[in-house]
Amino acid sequence: MSLGKRSDRYVLGLFAHGDPADRYIDQGDDEAIFRYVIDELDEVFDGAASTHHIQHVVQNWTAEPFIRGSYSTRRASAKKMSAPLGDRVFFAGEAMNPTGRTIAVHGTSETAYLAVEAMLS
Ligand SMILES: Cc1cc2nc3c(=O)[nH]c(=O)nc-3n(C[C@H](O)[C@H](O)[C@H](O)COP(=O)(O)OP(=O)(O)OC[C@H]3O[C@@H](n4cnc5c(N)ncnc54)[C@H](O)[C@@H]3O)c2cc1C
Repeated sequence: MSLGKRSDRYVLGLFAHGDPADRYIDQGDDEAIFRYVIDELDEVFDGAASTHHIQHVVQNWTAEPFIRGSYSTRRASAKKMSAPLGDRVFFAGEAMNPTGRTIAVHGTSETAYLAVEAMLS
């Protein structure tokens, strides 16, 4: 989370998604997730993490009611989900890219073109 950010502060970021994120999410609320992470760091750095910790932010995307996760992936059944309903309702969005180019804004934008093409044909 600190990659490319200009700061003279010492910022440590942890970004987990997919199956590896489960061990953090399974801890419960944000405070429990933080405790789990700082305990792991204390184990690695011999207690120095909690000694020098100043503040933290936890963003658990799975807890956001209209989002419930971070990235979609090729493994998602995008082709099935993006199929139009009765040639009247068309879908676009990151998780709806039938070419498998999911995860980022590029793939998201492409789905708009694909949906319009499908409408016109
Ligand atoms: C932590 C993180 C970092 C990322 N970093 C990058 C990056 O660096 N570069 C990049 O290209 N991409 C990045 N992405 C991916 C990028 O954010 C997504 O690809 C993109 O936002 C998907 O756009 P979308 O319009 O499909 O969905 P979203 O942006 O998720 O928009 C869907 C919207 O629908 C709303 N919604 C859902 N259900 C309902 C409902 N029932 N009623 C009303 N509204 C509803 C949601 O609240 C949301 O606002 C990142 C994603 C995450 C989570």
